[in-house]
Amino acid sequence: PEIVAVPAFSDNYIWLLRDSATGAVAVVDPGDGGAALRAAEERGWRIGQVLTTHWHPDHTGGNLRVKEATGCTIHGPASERERIPGIDEELREGDRVRVGSLAAEVWEVPGHTLGHIAFVFRDAGVAFVGDTLFVMGCGRLFEGTPEQMHRSLQRLGELPRDTRLYCAHEYTLGNARFAAHAEPGNEAVLRRLAEVQERRARGEITVPTTVAEERATNPFLRAESVEQLGSLRHAKDS
Ligand code: ZN
Ligand code: FE
Repeated sequence: PEIVAVPAFSDNYIWLLRDSATGAVAVVDPGDGGAALRAAEERGWRIGQVLTTHWHPDHTGGNLRVKEATGCTIHGPASERERIPGIDEELREGDRVRVGSLAAEVWEVPGHTLGHIAFVFRDAGVAFVGDTLFVMGCGRLFEGTPEQMHRSLQRLGELPRDTRLYCAHEYTLGNARFAAHAEPGNEAVLRRLAEVQERRARGEITVPTTVAEERATNPFLRAESVEQLGSLRHAKDS
């Protein structure tokens, strides 16, 4: 598939996903509907679906505008349906979503919100993880518990090592600095921090990441217990 980052607000990424075989296009988490529509239009792409990972307005604020402009179908987590504008298809763990010839498994990955889902395109080797896992970090626990987030991250970490993970924010530099503080003896973290500093200085984006890179450098994914994850999250928040 072709996957395009659409920057929005100060640090969000909206993702456009196009199935090369059929030309079907989905947009993941269009917080800014105008930005998503312009990016699709520039490429001559027609958005047919919205894939929503969770209800937060920076991920759903553009749903209705995209739907009005394209007549697309909006998919999102069933348990957050009241807070997802325009939702048509309610998704639960184990459901499938198709984008043209591409197929995604729906995973419930609570922690950031209680209903948060990820879209796992296994055959394509791609997963859209919203605000659950960030490059070298994880989402804040606004609704869920450290236990839920621990399990959600461990599940994502068990995907094949070359799976590309697409998250919804450019938080990498701050996360990398925190990771270097949390794991000062981890050479892979220190190397990645230097690389991320260079890439950000050049104005490049740092998403996607891979499962292998996260296993080596993400302290939240590497946490060996719920308690350890909880204290890392607490330290990062304060
Ligand atoms: Zn969020
Ligand atoms: Fe967000």
